[in-house]
Amino acid sequence: MSSFTRRAGCAVLCVLSCVAALRAVPASLHESYSGQAAYNYTAQVAGFGERFPGSPGYLKTQELIKQVLKKNGAVIEGDDFTAKTPKGELAVHNIIGKFNVTPDPKQPIVILAGHYDTLFQPGFIGANDGASSTAILLAFADALAQHKTKMQIWLVWTDLEEGINGFEGDDGLVGSRHLAKKLQAAGLVPRIKGFFLLDMIGDKDLSVAREKGSTRALQAIIAQAATQLGYSQYFFQYTTGIIDDHQSFLDVGVPSVDVVDAEFGRMGQGFDGMGEFHHANTDTMDKVSKQSLEIVGKTILLTVELMDK
Ligand SMILES: [Zn+2]
Repeated sequence: MSSFTRRAGCAVLCVLSCVAALRAVPASLHESYSGQAAYNYTAQVAGFGERFPGSPGYLKTQELIKQVLKKNGAVIEGDDFTAKTPKGELAVHNIIGKFNVTPDPKQPIVILAGHYDTLFQPGFIGANDGASSTAILLAFADALAQHKTKMQIWLVWTDLEEGINGFEGDDGLVGSRHLAKKLQAAGLVPRIKGFFLLDMIGDKDLSVAREKGSTRALQAIIAQAATQLGYSQYFFQYTTGIIDDHQSFLDVGVPSVDVVDAEFGRMGQGFDGMGEFHHANTDTMDKVSKQSLEIVGKTILLTVELMDK
């Protein structure tokens, strides 16, 4: 090989490594996110089987969350307590992963949350209701490690969202209620610019509700992000009221929004109010799509970017 070809070879190598370096650092937070990664995590979590508190699948999910947070350099915190429930005393574990924490005591905070528990129902694996929300946050952790924000971003996996006998009184929303009150007591409410709850967002036939009780200003930013990405047809085409973890944060004065697809399968007479697959053992991976996870994930992360300016 002559010295000329060696130099040429070296130049080619440099170009290739520069292209690789460019690819390794996406231009923005939402571009760092992968719907495919979220889908893979959904399959992994659903594969753990039933995930109600104390079950083997529940413990495997906790391990996976902590492992992904650790890999991505998050500050990991737990919110652990015992709750009195219709099933007696239950140990409850919310998991929090914090990104971009600075020493500034006034640094704004945005929370992206979803529940990781499933219904206490034999044979229920909740691919959409439980696994998709757990998984999208895991894929957010991967994205947040690649792209920094000025605001502090918390990923919160809530526990015992599902009611045991329904959502009467204190049944259901147990983890989120405890965490919201704890943050209120710590004086953090004024710093939290938004609580975004993701629930049942893996539905193949995606249509995110305009949830009635949610903060309109946050829905407006989500709509702006969706329009910018060409996804507006998937958001806010119908209005409904949903009892979900966002209520716990609304109750303590945090602007909060439920990003929820409230029509899962066929609707109407003879079906559950949230669709035929809601809280049914037919909530399985064949009802979930990579594309839906891509649409919701990119839209929510662009929403965060719009708030970060
Ligand atoms: Zn549910």
